[in-house]
Amino acid sequence: MAEHESLEFGKADFVLLDNVSLEEFMANLKLRFEKGRIYTYIGEVVVSVNPYRAMNIYGRDTIEQYKGRELYERPPHLFAIADAAYKAMKRRNKDTCIVISGESGAGKTEASKYIMQYIAAITNPGQRAEVERVKNMLLKSNCVLEAFGNAKTNRNDNSSRFGKYMDINFDFKGDPIGGHINNYLLEKSRVIFQQEGERSFHSFYQVCVSVYVCVTRQTDATISWYTDQMGSVADAMKVIGFTADELQTVYKVLATILHLGNLTFGVDGDTTLIENSKVVAVIGDLLATKEENVEKALLYRTVATGRDVIDKQHTAQEASYGRDALAKAMYERMFCWIVGRINDVIEVKNYDAKVHGKNTVIGVLDIYGFEIFQNNSFEQFCINYCNEKLQQLFIQLVLRQEQEEYQREGIPWKHIDFFNNQIIVDLVELQHKGIFSVLDEACMNVGKVTDKVFLQGLNSKLANHAHYTSRKLSPTDKSLEFDRDFRVRHYAGNVVYSVVGFIDKNKDTLFQDFKRLLYNSSNPVLKVMWPEGKLKITEVTKRPLTAATIFKNSMIALVENLACKEPYYVRCIKPNDVKSPLLFEHERCRHQVEYLGLLENVRVRRAGFANRQEYPRFLQRYKMISEFTWPNHDLPSEKEAVKKLLQGCGFEQDVAYGKTKVFIRTPRTLFCLEEQRTEMV
Ligand code: ADP
Ligand code: MG
Repeated sequence: MAEHESLEFGKADFVLLDNVSLEEFMANLKLRFEKGRIYTYIGEVVVSVNPYRAMNIYGRDTIEQYKGRELYERPPHLFAIADAAYKAMKRRNKDTCIVISGESGAGKTEASKYIMQYIAAITNPGQRAEVERVKNMLLKSNCVLEAFGNAKTNRNDNSSRFGKYMDINFDFKGDPIGGHINNYLLEKSRVIFQQEGERSFHSFYQVCVSVYVCVTRQTDATISWYTDQMGSVADAMKVIGFTADELQTVYKVLATILHLGNLTFGVDGDTTLIENSKVVAVIGDLLATKEENVEKALLYRTVATGRDVIDKQHTAQEASYGRDALAKAMYERMFCWIVGRINDVIEVKNYDAKVHGKNTVIGVLDIYGFEIFQNNSFEQFCINYCNEKLQQLFIQLVLRQEQEEYQREGIPWKHIDFFNNQIIVDLVELQHKGIFSVLDEACMNVGKVTDKVFLQGLNSKLANHAHYTSRKLSPTDKSLEFDRDFRVRHYAGNVVYSVVGFIDKNKDTLFQDFKRLLYNSSNPVLKVMWPEGKLKITEVTKRPLTAATIFKNSMIALVENLACKEPYYVRCIKPNDVKSPLLFEHERCRHQVEYLGLLENVRVRRAGFANRQEYPRFLQRYKMISEFTWPNHDLPSEKEAVKKLLQGCGFEQDVAYGKTKVFIRTPRTLFCLEEQRTEMV
């Protein structure tokens, strides 16, 4: 028996459990984790448990073992799923995608990197220079994105603070010829504020190890790690093609943000003033603009009243708000610009489909998992909405894929029900009725709009919704505060959101004066980042889209894009909160198994057929166990030969014959076949 079929390491596929119960599922997961088997299948889904230690399972030799093999031939591994996605793309000319989900620290980003390494390793046997160049760029881009988009959090020392979807394009030979990255909702508030024990983005520490108010809440020895990283990030950026000027500008933006963090405002009578005006001179220098322009943009706002244009002075509070908004916006804009520059370099060039055939794609999605914190705000709300969307997609695709395959093969199929979270997706995104709509309406109001008004709007519109509650609607519920909280019953559990800051974060206002300031910089790289600064005050009429609308639209587009690809799933589980390689915290894991819907996944998989194989392949593997097929058969087709073989073994009741594949209902049948085969060889 192959190692992965030995019971010592538990069941390699949860579909093989004797009883599908939570207890058995958990026992198997735990056993495998303890035996160092971090991957387990549910059919074609990989369940992964973060080992929190270096595993010797990603080397060249392992890659060779998975290359071109079928899923069940080898122990479960990310490489097998990457290979399956690659094969499906190459053999059937289909776009595929690999969706990686799980909470922060569960191992999503590491998984995405191993998948990319695998794909890079198995492609381009001819060592074509252009393909090698593209592969190198794709791998290098990770390092750059992590420097600017990752930070130390309490959950993960290298936590991605943005969502990432990357397409890899392949030519007709199956070699990578380019790619494209989409980024989602960078957590820019981190630039100005970090929770106790957390840090700002790596890039700040890499560029400067000095002590700035803005980023250093604590100091510790690991700071030297950043200095080491700095060199490799700069190298990667150079390889990707960032010019010296561009690199300089990146450093200047980082420095500007750090200096903004030191800036404080005071009042003198009616006048708002900057207390440490030397900083303004430095910022002027960094932004290649005059000191007085910086000062004016920080202290005044130009407003158009009728035909007049006047300069309205900020209060100290408004000025501080403006300063923070500027710091956040500059960082976010730079991040998007970096992604854009990477895309310029990796996008497919000179590909003529008429000559080369269809160019196909593998997409890899590494996006924030469900978040339930002590205090949940707008960001958590968006992130959890994203997870509802992905769960909805999972439901549709996993079910749809099964159903379609049975249909295609002409096999009858009975429906399996499980909780459909569409109702929660609607609660958030429905036009006019959903939470995002109520929020946008509140933001449109003229006059003083407060978070409280928004909450009132929610309470009046959503009073009867089964997944929405507030203290007003359920006055005895002490877990909710009256004028502040609402609760959503997500598919993954209840989350209480505090409305504080929703309005501000959704409006996401950056005074036009700052945009003009940056656009008018004599640094051309900076100018390019801020094209809308070109507009004169009287020309600015359109209200910018709200953060919620932008996010919602990007999620809808993402899901549409994924839905037309053949999906492969990696479900990551975080075994404990202390980054220990030894600890399997049962309760913690059970919760993840539940909200990832893994048990339902097993049930759906089992209700159908646990295993399916194309006739020729099946015959190849098992022909030695039957006198009718060994060494050769004289039947009219391979399908007939497989029928005869299975009849002879007495498995007739447990199988169905599709057009191109044989379907095996229970895993035990497969086991018996394997056992008989092992006896023969
Ligand atoms: P996520 O992206 O889900 O937040 P990461 O992929 O960043 O989580 O993983 C968090 C940490 O866990 C990594 O920095 C690494 O130390 C550890 N880790 C994750 N996956 C593996 C793995 N396959 N092997 C070894 N360590 C891992
Ligand atoms: Mg990550």
